[in-house]
Amino acid sequence: MINPSYDVVVVGGGPAGSMAARSAARSGLSVALFEKDREIGVPVRCAEGVGGEALGSLVDIHPEWISQKITAVRFHSPSGQVVDVETDEVGYILNRKIFDADLARQAGADGAQLFTKACVRGLIVENGCVQGVRLDHLGNAFEVRSKIVIGADGVESRVGRWAGLDTHTRLHDMETCAQVTAANLPIDESLISFYFSERWAPGGYLWIFPKGPGIANIGLGVSGDYSRKRTPVELLYDFLQSEFPRATILGTVVGGVPCSKPLKTLVADGVLLAGDAAHQTNPLTGGGIVSSMLGGKLAGETAVLAIRAGDLSRKQLGEYDKRWKTEADKQKKFYKIKEFVFNLQDADFDQIAAETLKLPPHKRTLVNIFRRALIKKPAMILDIIKLFT
Ligand SMILES: Cc1cc2nc3c(=O)[nH]c(=O)nc-3n(C[C@H](O)[C@H](O)[C@H](O)COP(=O)(O)OP(=O)(O)OC[C@H]3O[C@@H](n4cnc5c(N)ncnc54)[C@H](O)[C@@H]3O)c2cc1C
Repeated sequence: MINPSYDVVVVGGGPAGSMAARSAARSGLSVALFEKDREIGVPVRCAEGVGGEALGSLVDIHPEWISQKITAVRFHSPSGQVVDVETDEVGYILNRKIFDADLARQAGADGAQLFTKACVRGLIVENGCVQGVRLDHLGNAFEVRSKIVIGADGVESRVGRWAGLDTHTRLHDMETCAQVTAANLPIDESLISFYFSERWAPGGYLWIFPKGPGIANIGLGVSGDYSRKRTPVELLYDFLQSEFPRATILGTVVGGVPCSKPLKTLVADGVLLAGDAAHQTNPLTGGGIVSSMLGGKLAGETAVLAIRAGDLSRKQLGEYDKRWKTEADKQKKFYKIKEFVFNLQDADFDQIAAETLKLPPHKRTLVNIFRRALIKKPAMILDIIKLFT
């Protein structure tokens, strides 16, 4: 049963929303989370890859979340050279259906109320401050009041815009993605593969993330600048026809990832944004699971502080911008690197691969590959050095 009012309303039941709801609820606040889909974690629009260390820094990792452990990375150059890189860090391909549902379960266990098939249609704004949401739940309209609204409503977020925040993503910075989950693939399931080439993924990259023996998420992201020439789905199906003609397609999804610089602010009076809604993805990789979780956690904690202080103004909530600053600074650096990498030509990628293959296998690290990339563009070296000093 939906109550007429809560301390905090969270819009969206992805990783950002569940973490926000959990961190606010565990401090004793009354919290409602509204998810428009009928089931948390479905549909999965994600390749499901995460770094083990980053995930483990936020939550205890449960074995049932994990489809596949990853210990190496393989790069394919446009002309077909293959560079294998061992990594020190363990990565995981999650089962997001189980993972997202479990994060939501944990939020519920800590006291948050969750509602599915609950689509937020607008904000209640009084005296310039957001005071709750309007929503449809199972065919009925509700008005729910709250001291704080956390917009964790993903890449298609409307909460930010409704609150007057500038959340626009330039076409250039929107990676449009297509992905299949495919079976009967002759792959090594201990490694993830990336393809960089004009042919398969202009202004982006193609990935193969194994989910188990012979099964993988195969997808690609293309910068919005290119996605009108050939759609990501067309590019992906060409790739499958060429490289895995015997693959069995179990599912196809399309989706966008904001690969932009950080937003100027993540808060308005009575509102905080988290996750994709707040553009908290890594602009280079498009990865956003763990950063969304961190954003959600910090947004929830900031809501607690503001409610305890009795001050819901954007000035008070600006504490969240301050706490996100370290991540925002990293995001700016990754944005510059993205601009550099995605401006390389096929010939550059081939030459970097050839140079890297001259190194003994134990020296083929991500850092050494990047060094070779910089040698290709000496003019960039100074810019990149500046980023890290
Ligand atoms: C093809 C693809 C592959 C990707 N691969 C990776 C990867 O391998 N690793 C990685 O780290 N990241 C990856 N990402 C990015 C990652 O999926 C997102 O960054 C992450 O899911 C963001 O979490 P979130 O909670 O912010 O948003 P979401 O997970 O999108 O959750 C938002 C939720 O809000 C709900 N919602 C929206 N509007 C409303 C409303 N009005 N009312 C109620 N509910 C609403 C939605 O239904 C949704 O459930 C990928 C993305 C795509 C598209």
